[in-house]
Formats: sequence, structure tokens, C-alpha cells
Amino acid sequence: MWGPAVRRACARGASLSRALGSRAPPGGAAAAAAQASIHRLPCEFPSARYYSTVADGHDDDAAWNAAWGDATAELTTAEMPFEESAGRLRKLLQTELLLHTDLQDRPERFFRAHRALGRHAVPHGPGFFIRFTVQYNLFAGTVLAVGSEDQVAKLHDMQKAGQLGCFGLTEKFAGVQSGLVVNTTAEWDADTDTFVINTPNDGAKKNWISQGFTADKAVVMASLKVGGKDCGPHAFLMDLRHDDGTVAPGVVMDDMGRKTTGNDLDNAWLHFDNVTVPKDALLNRYCDVVDGQYVQKVKGMRPFDMIGQRLYTGRIAVAQAALEYRRALFEVTKRYSDNKMSPSMNGAFALSNIPQLKAIYAEADETGARVDAFVARCEELLIDCIKEERLPSPTLIDAIATCKIRAVETSIDLCFRLKQEVGSFALMDDAGFKHMDFLQCCKFAEGDSRILMQKLARDTMKRLKTDRWEGATEDEVRLSLKLSEDMASEIAASGDKQKAWDDNFRTVYALAEATMDRVEDSVWD
Ligand SMILES: Cc1cc2nc3c(=O)[nH]c(=O)nc-3n(C[C@H](O)[C@H](O)[C@H](O)COP(=O)(O)OP(=O)(O)OC[C@H]3O[C@@H](n4cnc5c(N)ncnc54)[C@H](O)[C@@H]3O)c2cc1C
Repeated sequence: MWGPAVRRACARGASLSRALGSRAPPGGAAAAAAQASIHRLPCEFPSARYYSTVADGHDDDAAWNAAWGDATAELTTAEMPFEESAGRLRKLLQTELLLHTDLQDRPERFFRAHRALGRHAVPHGPGFFIRFTVQYNLFAGTVLAVGSEDQVAKLHDMQKAGQLGCFGLTEKFAGVQSGLVVNTTAEWDADTDTFVINTPNDGAKKNWISQGFTADKAVVMASLKVGGKDCGPHAFLMDLRHDDGTVAPGVVMDDMGRKTTGNDLDNAWLHFDNVTVPKDALLNRYCDVVDGQYVQKVKGMRPFDMIGQRLYTGRIAVAQAALEYRRALFEVTKRYSDNKMSPSMNGAFALSNIPQLKAIYAEADETGARVDAFVARCEELLIDCIKEERLPSPTLIDAIATCKIRAVETSIDLCFRLKQEVGSFALMDDAGFKHMDFLQCCKFAEGDSRILMQKLARDTMKRLKTDRWEGATEDEVRLSLKLSEDMASEIAASGDKQKAWDDNFRTVYALAEATMDRVEDSVWD
């Protein structure tokens, strides 16, 4: 099952330390050398404390780590044309080091691979990480979540052939509410036993689709209509291109253009004009069309809810990538400031000793360790669910949302403040700060921070109202009461619930913060 790269590494008896690469020794080296070393930032695995404990059971982990480190050490550069970067992922797939199905069979490896690739974003931007997570989590993960056995088997064929897949959820006018709003349609044609996929208007175009221009296949979310009845959003596995690379009939696509970072990744808009796909394009583990009728195979299992499960693995992977980017950026910057001397009355001292920089390094260590541990705990709990094939509890779902928000927001805050304090180094092309918009992408990937926060606040309000719930903290109770009272008086005046909610957004987000504080503690119970 393993490809040649891992077999070679095993034969050499490669160890984890080999995969870790070498860190520049603190102090001693000249600042210029520290700066130059950024280019060689190894694809490191974080120290063992970030591993989930469930990873310990695999005897061959060290060899796998080494092989994965080798295979991903020189993946892409920010300047690489996206076609070439797509080619690198095709080759990585064909090593079979990480199988499309590892998300469910060896989830600890799936997460470890994400963590390691998060570090690439400092020297090379986020393009490859996004490409990778879309392939493995959103595309293949959705097929695993709602595909039949035959459909999952196609993932193996794709992997061997090095074929790429993208995930088409976001629509132009749905933005962060995509999923709630799906205007792309898939209509059952009983005469031909096919589905016909259409983009009814410009606002329903799929946009921002990562790898959408280079992919061979797509999982596309579309509202299914059978016999005129609207059955809600469903996932379709379809060909975007034929084997010779030509675009499938009725599919119109283009790359969206240059971005501030990550231009080695294609982000496409997609338009479907009467695209005919076969019956087995519908990912059909939980539903199907039988004798012209829509059938739910497992009562109570709505396919869209199961697709939502993929967002949980994605949220943890994104949280980890944000943390790894933050960690790598701080390491690179500290190497520089340890070696950059500043004059003073008492002789020269290293820039790292300037009080505000010293304080931010210490804060990053402390906050980083706390959030790392929280994310690792969520990973561990989610891996248990995946392995035992059970759905995560509502508490874990809230914890996963919280860990993604906290990892991304603390990383943004720390990196931004570091940039303000370190001086001209931050402006250098190769310092890594220019890829900080990676963290911006993490903000809305797999659930926008603001939307998740509103959900957490709403759920807390509901629980306090309905079950006389005693698990809430004092802050949650106080803020929920305030929000209820302020909203009640506004609703009495205007009758508009949504407006009352929006007008009180500060209290909403304060309540979300209080909820996240409780949730963060809850995973250790
Ligand atoms: C690099 C990249 C890769 C991506 N890859 C994919 C992919 O492979 N597949 C895919 O389907 N999608 C993908 N996306 C889309 C992404 O997941 C987001 O859904 C999308 O970028 C949202 O963008 P928007 O600016 O249109 O959102 P908008 O909806 O316009 O939101 C803009 C801002 O307003 C805020 N906002 C919006 N509505 C509300 C509200 N009701 N309450 C409070 N705040 C609100 C949000 O916080 C957000 O920051 C990608 C995006 C990027 C940038």
C-alpha cells in the first residue's frame, strides 16, 4: 500500500529526527544567515506534545514521518505557476503515503500531515496547504462521508492516477452563508436517468473554488429537484474535465485572478450550463432516486448534515495550520532578532531583549502552548469519534468551533503585533510576514469565525431559556440576560428580531467569548 518513498525511508531505517530537519542554533550565527535560512525552513513536525496520544499505536510512524517529510520538503514556492503546483499534488497523491481514505482509517496521520504543511506557509505562502486540505478533507472527505462503497472506491482509482478533485460549495452571492443558501440546481431527468446541473444566475456561480481550474473532478453542492420536488442541497461527484484535459460540456470556468498571497493555487469560478451527469454522480450512501422518487435510505440521516461532519475535521486542520504558521513565523523572527544587535549605553544587546519584543515572545509561548493543547485535545476526541464511527457530541462540536476560532484569532493577533514590533525585517520579501493573509483565509475557511460565534451565542441563549441549564458561567448568564432584555425592548418597538440581534452585535460577540471560555475548559472534564 505504501509508495516507493516510504519504502525507501523504511529501508534506510529513517527516524523522526531525520524528518524534523535541523533548526538554526539560537544565537551565534549572523543575522544575515538567519534570514537566509528562512528559505530552507524544513517541513518540520511539531514537537511530540502536539501529537494526539492516539497516534502512539503505530509502530511504523517514525518511518512514515520521515517519508512524508522527504516527500513534502520541497513542494512548491509562492511564485510557482498553479499548473505546476497542481502537478506536485498529483505526484504526492501517487506516492500513496497519505491515502484519501486515511481521514477515516488513520486520522492521526491526516492531521499530522496538515500540521506539517501549515509550516510551508511561512516561506512559500498558503497555496499548497489549501490545495492539499481541499483535496483530502473537502473533496475526498465528502465522498467518504456520504458516498457509497463504489463511490469511495473511485477515490483509490483517482489516487493511483494522480487525479485532482475540488469542492464546490461557495456561491458568489451566498458568501459565508453558502450551504444555507445553495442556488445551483440539479434536476432529475426521468427520461434519461440523469441529473442536469445548472447555474440559474450570476449570483449562483460557484466561486473561490480552490483547485477548481486544474481539477479533474469536483464534488459540487446543488439543490436537488426530483419530480418538481425540492429535496434540498446534495453533493454530486462529477467530471470537470475529460481524460485528455478538455473541459466537460456545459462547464464554464476561469481562475479568479491574482490574490495577495497563495498564487500557486488556482481559485476558480464555475458556471454550469445544462451539465448532464449520470445517476451515480449523486453521492448516495444516505439517499437515492429510486423509480423516479427521492428516497432517504437511513431515516433521520440527511446527507447535508453528514457533509457538515467534514467541516469538523477541516476546522481542526485549519486551526492546526494557523498555529503552525504562527509558530514558524515567530521562530524565524526570533532567530533574526536574537542575532540583530542594537547599540546602548551599556554595550550592544540583541534585539530580542527589547522589552516589548521579549514580552510578545513570552506571551506567544504561553498562549501558543494553551491553544495548542486545546486543539490537540479536540483532535484526540474527534479521532475517537471517527474511529468508533460515532457522531461528535454537541459539546465536542462547540469545542471544535471554539478551537478553530481561538487558534486563528490568537495567531492573527500575535503575528500582527510581532510585525509592528520587529522593525524593517518584517518588510523583507522572505521574512514570511507577506503571507500573513493565510490567517485571513483561515478565518472563513470551514466556517467563518463570526458566523460560528453567533451560533455559539444563540445556542447558549436557547439553552438558558429552555432547560433552566445550570452549566452556564456567571458571564454567560449575565450577558444572555442583557441580550434578552435589550432585544425584547427593540422587538417590542420594531417587531424585527433579526434587526434586534444585529443591533446588539457587541453583546452577541461578548456572549460568544464567554461561551468559548467555558467550552475551552469543558474538554478537560
Ligand atoms: C483562498 C480561498 C479558498 C477557498 N476555497 C474554497 C473551496 O475550495 N470551496 C468552497 O466552496 N469555498 C472556498 N472558499 C470560500 C470561503 O470558504 C468563503 O466562503 C468565502 O471566501 C466567503 O467570502 P465572501 O467574502 O464572499 O463572504 P461574505 O459573505 O461576503 O462575508 C464577508 C465578511 O462579512 C462577514 N459576514 C457575512 N455575513 C455575515 C453575517 N450574517 N453575520 C456576521 N458577519 C457576516 C463575514 O465575517 C465575512 O468576513 C475559499 C475562499 C478563499 C479566500
